[in-house]
Amino acid sequence: MAFQLPDLPYPKDALEPHIDALTMEIHHDKHHAGYTKKLNAALEGTGWENRTIEDILANLKDLPADKQTAVRNNGGGFINHSIFWATMSPNGGGEPTGAIKHAINEKWGSFDAFKEAFAKTAATQFGSGWAWLGYSKEEGLHLHGMPNQDSPALHGHVGILGIDVWEHAYYLNYQNRRPDYISAWWNVVNWDEVNKRYAAAKG
Ligand code: MN
Repeated sequence: MAFQLPDLPYPKDALEPHIDALTMEIHHDKHHAGYTKKLNAALEGTGWENRTIEDILANLKDLPADKQTAVRNNGGGFINHSIFWATMSPNGGGEPTGAIKHAINEKWGSFDAFKEAFAKTAATQFGSGWAWLGYSKEEGLHLHGMPNQDSPALHGHVGILGIDVWEHAYYLNYQNRRPDYISAWWNVVNWDEVNKRYAAAKG
């Protein structure tokens, strides 16, 4: 069963004015679709087609060497964007609730301090990449700036909340003003979904 491009869980204009409809359309229908198609093409004939994307990325070094780069880039693009759409909502924003709120406060002291650290990770990621709030049993919650389409799953970690800071994620609306995009993005963060991901990761 090949990997399938997930539908957006809301209309393309639902995140306006924070993320515009044309950016969402190109980002989902072209970029994410492209990663999905190229991931499937790279896995074809490897015998890895039916493994989960988390399992594939965590065990990448066992793939044939000539497939590893394509699967790292496109498999990362596939999972990263799948999480990205799900952790945004037109009804999002505000402050975290539930277990993630307590965990953030415990680790960073306050939501504002966490936001500042996360936004700094995102703003200072050089070139294309992501900022992630990840989780692992060993480290608990932690922040990662990751280049290109590298994913927390490469390290066997769970991506709980990530922001895409590739220019394709914001350039139409924000041009070079990455910090403005990051500030606006907090208005669409779906904390209910973040809590679900955190609960599932902790097990
Ligand atoms: Mn992207």
